[in-house]
Amino acid sequence: MKQIHNFINGEFVATGKTFDKRSPLDNAIIAKVHEAGRGEVDAAVAAARAALAGPWGKLTVAERVDLLYGVADGINQRFDEFLAAECADTGKPMSLARHLDIPRGAANFKIFADVIKNVPTECFEMATPDGRGAMNYSVRRPVGVVGVICPWNLPLLLMTWKVGPALACGNAVVVKPSEETPQTATLLGEVMNAVGIPKGVYNVVHGFGPNSAGEFVTTHARVDAITFTGETRTGAAIMQAAANGGRPVSLEMGGKNPAIVFADCDFDAAIEGTLRSVFANCGQVCLGTERIYVERPIFERFVAALKRGAEGLKIGPPEDATTGIGPLISREHQSKVLSYYKRAAELGATVVTGGGVPEMPEHLKDGAWVQPTIWTGLDDDSPIAREEIFGPCTLIQPFDGEDEVIRRANDTQYGLACSIWTRDLARAHRIAPQIEAGLVWVNSWFLRDLRTPFGGAKQSGIGREGGVHSLEFYTELKNICIKL
Ligand code: NAD
Repeated sequence: MKQIHNFINGEFVATGKTFDKRSPLDNAIIAKVHEAGRGEVDAAVAAARAALAGPWGKLTVAERVDLLYGVADGINQRFDEFLAAECADTGKPMSLARHLDIPRGAANFKIFADVIKNVPTECFEMATPDGRGAMNYSVRRPVGVVGVICPWNLPLLLMTWKVGPALACGNAVVVKPSEETPQTATLLGEVMNAVGIPKGVYNVVHGFGPNSAGEFVTTHARVDAITFTGETRTGAAIMQAAANGGRPVSLEMGGKNPAIVFADCDFDAAIEGTLRSVFANCGQVCLGTERIYVERPIFERFVAALKRGAEGLKIGPPEDATTGIGPLISREHQSKVLSYYKRAAELGATVVTGGGVPEMPEHLKDGAWVQPTIWTGLDDDSPIAREEIFGPCTLIQPFDGEDEVIRRANDTQYGLACSIWTRDLARAHRIAPQIEAGLVWVNSWFLRDLRTPFGGAKQSGIGREGGVHSLEFYTELKNICIKL
């Protein structure tokens, strides 16, 4: 049986306690994961501190940048191994991971190396009463040891989205991958060693949240800052842990993202984009669309076209090139999503398509499969319209006016993303700023320039990462005032 170890101070570390990693495809155990206890977390934090005080802390920016370029190249050189590991853990189609998860995972090291190489700081000359003046300038310094707590939906991509800038800024990290997706973070340890990243800069500890590695990292007094992606509820717990010691947090949390489709939209583009935004990665994308508001004149046509698209998605295993949709991450998550499918039916939803478990071949029947599902006929107060389900499902509702749809789109505790589909750009400019979300797309979805700010409004997040915005979190900006 494959063993997944912790990666501490440049070494792969076994522990006495393991947990099972099961395949989403058939629920078979595919690996034993070595769970880190307090001792391993202590060792990882100590290694990270030692790295900061040692060779890593003494590198120039140019030297760090070279090493991070090496990490990106190292991932690309072992592309197929990363791809296989990511798809084994998540069950996602290889066609998706091949163009998204793995290349973006590598690119995250390059983009933030470029940012840190090119970013300026500020300088202010000031007058003083004695006429001699003073000069202020700022320098950026790493915050120290950063705890990185990761989700399972885009494991390598979302982990490197934090580790890339953290290391570019000169920090050391202790990563706690999701218990569902331990493999690629561990494999990255081999790349770090091969590239010559000093020991202790990148550490990985495996386990769960409460009373396990997640809690041990976030409550650790010698972890200086915590960056997290995951559910809003977990983010709140992490914020509480970080309050002890007044440590900064960056939180990327849940969503219940709307799409707004106007009758004047490019209909085919709106269907294509919305099909992706609802069903990509089996609906397990934080930016995914779970509520669609369609202007009444095209409502029936839109519902029919999205249904056709959903029914055209082939459900299957990762390696099949024709697979459009894989399983959910686990049987546990399948139960959660199916409980919403049941609830929608009980609440009187019209099930346009799906609503259950697909027929799968015998060898896959124990996997975490669910049907792509579309509902109509529920109102804004229904839990289906309010709670994050995180599955391949969406509720479509008609609307009649601009003010009405803005109000309904904003009527949520969340504020991560929104897509607006219209050919009227004046209208797009008018509406986009009124949407209470960190990201608004017009006539697209998931189009990401990594230099732009990324993060959520309301209960979808605290802080922004991406481009120079990541520096706000991963560095301390220090002012130096020189009296002349
Ligand atoms: P989760 O909150 O269950 O788990 C995330 C991580 O936190 C895991 O590593 C888990 O072990 C750890 N954890 C859980 N409880 C903890 C605790 N008390 N202390 C410390 N660590 C703890 O989230 P998930 O199910 O892995 O991911 C899905 C969620 O992530 C969805 O809500 C989705 O919207 C959100 N998400 C948000 C973004 C974003 O950018 N805003 C991106 C991806 C996913």
